[in-house]
Amino acid sequence: MKIAVLPGDGIGTEIVAEAVKVLEVLDLKFEMESALVGGAAYEAHGHPLPESTLKLAKEADAVLFGAVGDWKYDKLDRPLRPEQAILGLRKNLGLFANFRPAICYEQLVGASSLKPELIAGLDILIIRELTGDIYFGQPRGRRTAVDGHFPGADEAFDTMRYSRPEIERIARVAFEAARKRGKKVTSVDKANVLETFQFWKDVVTEVHKDYQDVELEHMYVDNAAMQLVKKPKAFDVIVTGNMFGDILSDEASMLTGSIGMLPSASLNSSNQGLYEPSHGSAPDIAGKGVANPLATILSAAMMLRFSLNQEEAAQRIENAVKNVLAQGLRTPDIYSEGTTKVGTAQMGDAVVKALSAQ
Ligand code: NAD
Repeated sequence: MKIAVLPGDGIGTEIVAEAVKVLEVLDLKFEMESALVGGAAYEAHGHPLPESTLKLAKEADAVLFGAVGDWKYDKLDRPLRPEQAILGLRKNLGLFANFRPAICYEQLVGASSLKPELIAGLDILIIRELTGDIYFGQPRGRRTAVDGHFPGADEAFDTMRYSRPEIERIARVAFEAARKRGKKVTSVDKANVLETFQFWKDVVTEVHKDYQDVELEHMYVDNAAMQLVKKPKAFDVIVTGNMFGDILSDEASMLTGSIGMLPSASLNSSNQGLYEPSHGSAPDIAGKGVANPLATILSAAMMLRFSLNQEEAAQRIENAVKNVLAQGLRTPDIYSEGTTKVGTAQMGDAVVKALSAQ
């Protein structure tokens, strides 16, 4: 098994170092190889995703990714900006399924802006289609309007589209995932207005015939946005398109109140995946040793589960994380009175210690 380790920029290097520490204490045989990505790669090679980095990622079973970006690159041409590396990796590895769990740890209930009783015990999984929809549909662009409300005016347009195979494969991913959890899938659409999402709903319903042990419900996206803050625990797995998933996964992740705790995974059809925290490179705290490494450590656990077939090791890491939280250790982003404030490396060390003590 081979893992490509791409720390990236800002806090990326600090948090990935802690996840690597954790992986190293597991008694598993895998090879880890690091490469530059994002702004760091641009500085060294003139491109955010150099050929050598892409080759390493393609050949690996999984990619452990930190974060990329810094305000200082905002003036670069778009194809050279650090964030393009993620899009390049998604495209080249065919990563069409994005997994964003939103789990509320018992000890962090107070970090949410929702009432504790609404989110205590929350454990939902958002599965977002990642390579289609209005974000990639052609044609798109700017032109002079020939019809509409203002003929002759400048206008911009994008194209929303999904093909049957694209919907079928993401629906299967969702039903398979639900089978291993609460056995319920909520498919989120806007079938009442959009032809694309009436088709989405029809295809998901057809695929469901192969998964009769899993409950399927359909929900309009506007209602889903409301239900996520009204009764989030009613969800198990949510599956939706690229744009709705972009928005709802951020909303769901914030239910837990702590961005430093949220892992993510993006998978292709052969279970090769890219694993990264849901947050960015946090230039405001980079180099200070205060970033929370737990989202990255939990991403490494997801990597063991989904791409490396090591469920037991994944659970060991997750239990070690619960253990350090129960000990009261907190990085500043999740700190509250009565707990013990620690830095990035101390948090990583505590997870390693908890793992070794199991
Ligand atoms: P961000 O997620 O980097 O930071 C938002 C806020 O959360 C900041 O206050 C930051 O200090 C805090 N934060 C984030 N991660 C944390 C952690 N692990 N521990 C403690 N606090 C944490 O988002 P941003 O500030 O909007 O973007 C910063 C840069 O990151 C930009 O260049 C952006 O393009 C890039 N970005 C990259 C990714 C990615 O690599 N996948 C994702 C989002 C943003």
